[in-house]
Amino acid sequence: MTGQVLRRFILMGPPGSGKGTQGAILSEKLGINTYSAGELLREATKSGSKEGEKIKKIIDRGDMVPPKMIVNRIVEKIQEPENLKGYILDGFPRTLDQAKRFDKILNKRYFKKNNLGVQAVLLLQVPDDYVIERIIGRSQCATCGALYHEKFRPPKVFGICDACGGKEFTRRADDTYAVVQARLRNYRLVTAPIIPYYEEKGLIVCVDGTGPIDVVSEKIRKIVGY
Ligand SMILES: [Zn+2]
Repeated sequence: MTGQVLRRFILMGPPGSGKGTQGAILSEKLGINTYSAGELLREATKSGSKEGEKIKKIIDRGDMVPPKMIVNRIVEKIQEPENLKGYILDGFPRTLDQAKRFDKILNKRYFKKNNLGVQAVLLLQVPDDYVIERIIGRSQCATCGALYHEKFRPPKVFGICDACGGKEFTRRADDTYAVVQARLRNYRLVTAPIIPYYEEKGLIVCVDGTGPIDVVSEKIRKIVGY
């Protein structure tokens, strides 16, 4: 890396690795947008386009949206004028098939000529135990929505919200050990095979995702070069 600031990249990592948080920080610092496939699909279903209608039907049926449709949404997005200065893809591609399809398009002359290709894949690495601890301890104030974690961010006084004094806390129903285990297993099975693929292309940059948010974002800042 020759002093150039990276502006087009993929954020990868298991659930609970802090991708969303770090993506938001990067978006703000670099003035570029972060996109996730799920969010783009939801947006398409509301657009009123023919393709959007098709996607809506598939989602309503509870079926998987075909990879080609997902990749097309992303490709469309990165060509929009406001995204020509850069983009962050959060959790896309999710499968090796998506990654290969995406690459095939990025390798076309138009995309090469306009420098739209991915410059780096930032891989946030966190051990499973860490993810489980991070997710399972989460809670939220039922009154004001303030976020807490029993170990990493407890209220100053046990059982009382710092922000509003509320005494009731809720947890997300899917923040359980079994659900987190299943998501981790799915990540290893479906998403992790992308890593060697991008490694071969020299795009993978590993980041230790453990530790406080600002420590991790500082590591990322150095890699991205802003
Ligand atoms: Zn509160």
